[in-house]
Amino acid sequence: MKLAMIGFGQAGGKIVDKFLEYDQRTQSGIVRAAVAVNTARADLMGLQHVPEDNRVLIGQSRVKGHGVGADNELGAEIAEEDIDEVQGAIDNIPVHEVDAFLIIAGMGGGSGSGGAPVVAKHLKRIYTEPVYGLGILPGGDEGGIYTLNAARSFQTFVREVDNLMVFDNDAWRQSGESMESGYEEINEEIVTRFGILFGAGEVGGGDDVAESVVDSSEIINTLAGGGVSTIGYAAEEVEMQNSGGLLSRFTGGGGGRAEDTAHTTNRITSLVRKAALGRLTLPCEIQGTERALLVMSGPSHHLNRKGIERGRKWLEEQTGSMEVRGGDYPVNEPSVASVVLLSGVTNVPRIKELQQVAIEAQDNIDDIQQESQTNLENLVEDDEDELDPLF
Ligand code: GDP
Repeated sequence: MKLAMIGFGQAGGKIVDKFLEYDQRTQSGIVRAAVAVNTARADLMGLQHVPEDNRVLIGQSRVKGHGVGADNELGAEIAEEDIDEVQGAIDNIPVHEVDAFLIIAGMGGGSGSGGAPVVAKHLKRIYTEPVYGLGILPGGDEGGIYTLNAARSFQTFVREVDNLMVFDNDAWRQSGESMESGYEEINEEIVTRFGILFGAGEVGGGDDVAESVVDSSEIINTLAGGGVSTIGYAAEEVEMQNSGGLLSRFTGGGGGRAEDTAHTTNRITSLVRKAALGRLTLPCEIQGTERALLVMSGPSHHLNRKGIERGRKWLEEQTGSMEVRGGDYPVNEPSVASVVLLSGVTNVPRIKELQQVAIEAQDNIDDIQQESQTNLENLVEDDEDELDPLF
């Protein structure tokens, strides 16, 4: 599936950059065009793969290239004012060659948090291609303002896109690591999952023929209907086919064909379980998911229709959904991976918790503002009101 990616803000830009790197490394062909938008010049300059011409600095008259300082209302305002500059970069994209737009942003900050929903609204008005969002939730330790930003942006972003795929930094936080190296690993996780998902719909003529290929229309149909999505992933190393035939590390090399098939099937079903019940990009209850898509990637001799069919059935039972699609994505890599896209999830305690913390933060901010005004008046005014200001 070919995407036009728009990274808004620092996190958005870095993740788009990472997608370009992934695309070059794996030849997956999913990034047809990449644009980075920001109010901070330094963040745009730090990118390595997004072409210079596709880096759009907005709000120069307002913030002079210094960013919006986690003020997402300002981020949204600037995006609206300068939407023509964003459109200018999108005008260079051959939109007839893309299957969808993907807008990526960290929701806890200012530029991306405020700007991404504005761009989504704009694109939906102009183009018929679906507009998806990839929203990154902040870690719980980032503080009240980030949580409040994220909760407000989440509400708006979901409304403006055709589907919001969510990645929760909080669920992926690793202790004892610097933030930068932590993000490096997290971004790798994001790109791997989404790379396999979107790459599945992009199997070219030269690739191994998939037994039951995932078409980009199946990804689009799974995401259609809107709402919030989460993604599961699990992988297992295997040996590539060699002259001796099918030799999986796990069969010990001694198995005949029937045994190989059974192993292949069992490995697939176990990877589907691990993907759906393991750590999701947004942790949630999978029961009640509206639609799902299973993608199995790996060397084609390690993929089979029976395994995928069983995995798909199991997902139907677990989610209670009647709309579970599945297929394979043959790649020349020594691992078999399962990616499960759960679309239209509604039982997400993490979002409720985020909203609760955001409301508390909002109330606190209001209280502090009121108090500080009174406190400042008390400080500046003399007790008996005997002094007159100059003017
Ligand atoms: P903006 O530039 O004003 O849009 O804000 P940032 O993108 O710098 O930060 C917004 C939020 O994104 C932060 O609160 C973090 O939760 C998250 N974030 C920042 N950088 C990264 C990154 O490289 N990867 C991930 N996964 N999250 C990030």
